[in-house]
Amino acid sequence: MYCPVCFQNTLKLRSNGVVKLSFNGKSRNTSLFTYNLAKDSGADLALKLREKITEFMVWYTDFKNKPPVKTIEVFSSDCQCSNSCKIDLVNTRISVIGVMYSFKEIQFIMQEEGAKHGIEVTLSPP
Ligand SMILES: [Zn+2]
Repeated sequence: MYCPVCFQNTLKLRSNGVVKLSFNGKSRNTSLFTYNLAKDSGADLALKLREKITEFMVWYTDFKNKPPVKTIEVFSSDCQCSNSCKIDLVNTRISVIGVMYSFKEIQFIMQEEGAKHGIEVTLSPP
């Protein structure tokens, strides 16, 4: 992953931290979960992601107008650069799509959960 300070491909996720989600450019305070790469298996991480996507879908079903969900961001600020750059952890959003999750995996979960809750999902690849 590219460091926002030195622009080298030297950025890595910390072994544990928080992943946040935003849908159609909107974030909810509760759309986040913690991860621990030393403990969580791929299946654990997929389950955590699915739980938060389900939560969003349940919340979204109450809306009167429900435009299709076209974008999802899955990001973290818990990263470090091996060049020891000082990264602004408050304003930095590092996408973990392609790192922690593949786009296909996210798209699959979104479409399954969307279908369950009657919400149209039209994600296009990043
Ligand atoms: Zn750097």
